[in-house]
Amino acid sequence: ARTLRIGLIPGDGIGKEVIPAGRRILEALPASLKLKFEFVDLQAGFQTFEETGVALPDKTVEILKKECDGALFGAVSSPSKAVKGYSSPIVALRKKLDLYANVRPVKSVMTAANPIDMVIVRENTEDLYVKEERTYDAADGSGKVAEAIKRISERASSRIATMAGEIALRRQKIRDSGAASIHSSPLVTITHKSNVLSQTDGLFRTTAREALAAARFSSVGVEEQIVDSMVYKLFRQPETYDVIVAPNLYGDILSDGAAALVGSLGLVPSANVGEGFAIGEPCHGSAPDIMGKDIANPIATLRSVAVMLEFLNEELAAAKIYAAVDANLEEGRLLSPDLGGTAKTSEIVEDILRRL
Ligand code: NAD
Ligand code: MN
Repeated sequence: ARTLRIGLIPGDGIGKEVIPAGRRILEALPASLKLKFEFVDLQAGFQTFEETGVALPDKTVEILKKECDGALFGAVSSPSKAVKGYSSPIVALRKKLDLYANVRPVKSVMTAANPIDMVIVRENTEDLYVKEERTYDAADGSGKVAEAIKRISERASSRIATMAGEIALRRQKIRDSGAASIHSSPLVTITHKSNVLSQTDGLFRTTAREALAAARFSSVGVEEQIVDSMVYKLFRQPETYDVIVAPNLYGDILSDGAAALVGSLGLVPSANVGEGFAIGEPCHGSAPDIMGKDIANPIATLRSVAVMLEFLNEELAAAKIYAAVDANLEEGRLLSPDLGGTAKTSEIVEDILRRL
């Protein structure tokens, strides 16, 4: 049996309602998988900041680094006005643990009229998000000018494209084992704007192309899309996409756009992935408008548990969770209010656990 130690960081708002559901599904996995879990409760978020003066305590980072195999992160609230000393703990965590990829599977219910089944793989460490900005007065006295560095490196582009290739192969392996899918062969779409940004996006494009030309990806189809036409195609023909790889900013925008296609933020999971470590994280925020009512959709979190498990090499366990969630959605009897139903969070969790 393998024992995995998982850090639990509920954060704020509905994070405190959905992360316990994530823990429960890990505990409910069938014994035949020979997987055991230990849990460590960890603090981060706005409430933590108000109580202790720091949003991400050193202790949380240290325990994650030294003791944990993976983690689940709920959501954190950010105050609408900037608060001195406060910055997002998840952004800091990605940096401190070098979680270089943000992986977001976006999948509709298989019976949907417009089936969607894609994974967006977003580079998580560079591009415009290096936050090197400056503001100065225009030389001609016409006012201020602000500018930002867009940094693209071969190393980061190569490893993110390689991860996209690995994900495409893994998805094909699952299809080969008989899982129903709208795709028949693996495809990676490289997204960029190299027609305008020939150096930065040009480097991303050529490096990703090279990485995906490796022999082990010989069965993976590779195509390119300029990001603006990508948005058009994403909305018109989302079913054509299998795995999408993008630099940080385009990936951020595409992944929120893709989430809109499947009907609710409450369905869409993600994982922040580095070498040998993964943090599962639902894409939604702390949803203060629905907190404390037992109506938050737990599915984004349950699927995030599965994505985390995939990156901890527990693909069988992940598949069980995906299948149980899909079965709940296909039946459509117990749905949360964001999907037009009346079921409580707790009822949905029970239903999905029963299907494991
Ligand atoms: P949000 O995702 O919290 O909510 C947007 C809308 O979607 C709300 O109407 C909410 O009720 C609904 N929703 C979200 N998750 C749901 C779920 N699981 N089930 C059912 N309905 C759900 O985004 P927001 O309202 O823009 O932000 C609220 C707070 O969350 C802010 O403080 C924001 O800074 C923070 N936030 C955090 C993260 C994060 O931690 N990664 C991401 C986005 C927003
Ligand atoms: Mn975003």
